[in-house]
Amino acid sequence: MVKSAPETAGLSPEVLAKYEPVIGLEVHVQLLTDSKIFCGCSTRFGDAPNSNTCPVCLGLPGTLPVLNKRVVEMATRASLALNCEVHEHSRFARKNYFYPDLPKGYQISQYELPLATGGWIEVEHDGAKKRIGITRLHLEEDAAKNLHEGFSESSTKAYIDYNRCGTPLCEIVSEPDMHAPEEAYAYLTTLRQILLYTGVSDCNMEEGSLRCDANVSVRLRGSREFGTKVEVKNLNSFRFLQKALEYEIERHIGVIESGGRISQETRLWNQSANRTDSMRSKEKAHDYRYFPEPDLLPVHVSAAWREEIRGALPELPEAKQQRFVREYGITEYDAEVLTGSQALADYFESVAKAGGSAKSAANWMQTELLRRLNDSGKEIEASPVRPAALAELLKLVESGQITGAVGKKVFASMFETSRSAADIVAAEGLGAQVGADAIEQAARDVIAKNPENVAKFKSGNEGVFKFFVGQVMKTTRGQANPHAVNDILRRLLS
Ligand code: ADP
Ligand code: MG
Ligand code: ZN
Repeated sequence: MVKSAPETAGLSPEVLAKYEPVIGLEVHVQLLTDSKIFCGCSTRFGDAPNSNTCPVCLGLPGTLPVLNKRVVEMATRASLALNCEVHEHSRFARKNYFYPDLPKGYQISQYELPLATGGWIEVEHDGAKKRIGITRLHLEEDAAKNLHEGFSESSTKAYIDYNRCGTPLCEIVSEPDMHAPEEAYAYLTTLRQILLYTGVSDCNMEEGSLRCDANVSVRLRGSREFGTKVEVKNLNSFRFLQKALEYEIERHIGVIESGGRISQETRLWNQSANRTDSMRSKEKAHDYRYFPEPDLLPVHVSAAWREEIRGALPELPEAKQQRFVREYGITEYDAEVLTGSQALADYFESVAKAGGSAKSAANWMQTELLRRLNDSGKEIEASPVRPAALAELLKLVESGQITGAVGKKVFASMFETSRSAADIVAAEGLGAQVGADAIEQAARDVIAKNPENVAKFKSGNEGVFKFFVGQVMKTTRGQANPHAVNDILRRLLS
C-alpha cells in the first residue's frame, strides 16, 4: 500500500477493512495487422514520423474509409477466445471531439452496436479461480501520437506523429467484477496471455500495443450500491496499475471517512510522485455526440465465417494447462508456469516428445533453463539449448550415465556453446567413472561407520536411506552412477 501520500496516511487496517473496492478495466489492444483499419498504410512501429500516412488517415476532406477485413477477423478471434457473443451485425459510429492527434475531428469507433458482448475469463487470485465478466469488445481506430519536448511552459514543443493514426484497436471493457488491485493485475495478466496465444496482438505495453485504464470506486462491505467511480489513465505497466489502484482505494476511503465525497473524474498516474493527479472531470458520454458512421456499411460477420474463425482458435492457456496435468502428470503449478507462453509450452512438449521425461523436463526448464534465459536476457525461442538437446541431456541423467550435479554443469556448458550433451560429457570426461567395486567399497565404509543409522533403517526408517546415498556420492565426488549406488546400498543393507 502507498503510505507516503498525505491524503492516504493514517487509515487504520480496521477502517480500510470496512470498505470493498470495485474495479473495472478498459483495455485497448492494438491488432497485429500489416495495414491500418481504414486505409492501406503500414502499421509498422518505429518508422520515420509521418511516413506511413495517406489522405485517409490524415483525415483530408473527400476521402472515404474502407474497412480492413483482417481487423474484423482478428477482433472476432479475440472475442471468441474471451467467450463473447459475436454479433452478426455491428456498426461503426463517430465519436466527436477535437484534439490535434485526431485530424478528422472525430474518431471512428463502435458504440451502441459493438462487435461482441457478454464474455468472461477465468482468473486466479488468492488460490481461487473466479470469472470476470467482459461487457463488450469493440473496434476503433487509434489516434496519432503526441510527443512533447522541453519542460518549462515557454519552451515546450509538441510534435505529432500520424503514423499511429488509423491503427486498428479493439477495446475490451470488463464488468466491475474485481475487488482488489491484485485481482485487476491477475485479470490483465490472463487477458494478455489469451491475446498473445491467439496472436491478435503483441501486447507490448512499452510500445503502447496494450493500454489500460482503470475504473475504481469503494463501497461499504455488504452494500449493493456502487460508489462514485474514478478513471485512472496512463497506466503503462502492470506495476503502475496495481500501485495506482492501491493509492486510489486508500484515497477514496480517506475522503469518505473524513465526510467528503468522491467526484467523478479522470485522473493520471504520476509515477515520479507515486500518486494520482486529477486530469479532468469526467466528460459525459453524450458530449461526444455519437452518431452512426455514414461512410461505412454495417459490419457483417456471418455465422459461417464466425465458426470458421472459432475452428481455427489455438488451444488456450487454461485448456493447455489442464491437458499438461492430465497428459504429462506434472503439477498444476508446473503446468501453469509452462503454459505461461505458447513458446514455452511448445518447448516443453518438444522435450517430452524427444524422449525426456516430462517431470524432469518441467524441473530442468523451470530451474536451469529459465534462470539462464533470464540472466542472459534471451527469449525461449532464442535458447541456445534446443528441446531435443535438453531431452538428450535428461536421458543421460535419467539412465545414470551422469549424475544430476554433473548434468547441471553440462547444461551450463551447452547453454554457453550450443554443443551437445554427449559431446561435452565425452570431451570433458564427465561420465560416471566410478566402478561398481569402488562404489561397493565406499558403501561398506559408510555402513560400518554409521551403525545407529543402519539400525534405524532396519527398523523401517526409509528416510535414512538418502543419508547413505548422500555419503557414498560424497566419497565418490559425485562421479558414481546414482542407480548403481542405490542398488548396491539396498543389497548391502538388506
Ligand atoms: P463510462 O460511461 O463512464 O465510460 P461505463 O459504464 O462504460 O462508464 O464503464 C466503464 C468501466 O468502468 C467498465 O469497465 C465498468 O466495469 C467500470 N465501472 C462502472 N461503474 C463502476 C464503479 N462504480 N466502480 C468501478 N468501476 C466501475
Ligand atoms: Mg466507457
Ligand atoms: Zn493511410
